[in-house]
Amino acid sequence: MAAVDTAAWVRGFAALVGEHEAELTALDAAIGDADHGTNMRRGMTAVVAALDDSQPGTPGEVSKQTAMALIRAVGGASGPLFGTFFLRFAAAIGSGMDIADFARAFRAGVDGVIARGKAEPGDKTMVDTLVPAADALDTRVAGGASTEAVLDAAVSAAAAGRDATTPLVARKGRASYLGERSAGHQDPGATSAALLVLAARAAVR
Ligand code: ADP
Ligand code: MG
Ligand code: MG
Repeated sequence: MAAVDTAAWVRGFAALVGEHEAELTALDAAIGDADHGTNMRRGMTAVVAALDDSQPGTPGEVSKQTAMALIRAVGGASGPLFGTFFLRFAAAIGSGMDIADFARAFRAGVDGVIARGKAEPGDKTMVDTLVPAADALDTRVAGGASTEAVLDAAVSAAAAGRDATTPLVARKGRASYLGERSAGHQDPGATSAALLVLAARAAVR
């Protein structure tokens, strides 16, 4: 049965982050400190190096290594937040394989990001992408959709959540220092979070 290959997911995310580094940094230049692309690229480069080094065997080990490398390598807010996502994902996935396991672990990761960063949907952060993606995963899994269809729905929901950050006023993170002036710009972390979901779709094996 088709499932998300965790190692392929993480490596694919690293590749997408590399391709979009300049865009992510440009978004952060508008409402932050112009380092989101650099932070994510540095973090995901460290992740790939750690995976190459240790060749973890289970989805849980892959995502735990990913979390630790991100937390080690990234100084900005995004490192601990994506790190927490993968740490909670790791604890929930274990050696789980199917799309229902993935959806459950993804939700645990998102709940971890919320617990750590205290952002709610509508605060103009990565949470605005991650929560609709988790909701779409749960809904489509409950409806018995195929793995591919479940992830297609998550990709669409993530993109819509990302796009919906543009008019919002930021209430968390550096962008919140701008107050009303943060409106009219797409959130950088919501943009990288959409790449995370896109990478999962591409890692169905
Ligand atoms: P920094 O803001 O420390 O420079 P980055 O630029 O790498 O870190 O990441 C900024 C992104 O992190 C924001 O665009 C936002 O999506 C996300 N972010 C910031 N604070 C929070 C938070 N408290 N909860 C969730 N996401 C957050
Ligand atoms: Mg920044
Ligand atoms: Mg910074």
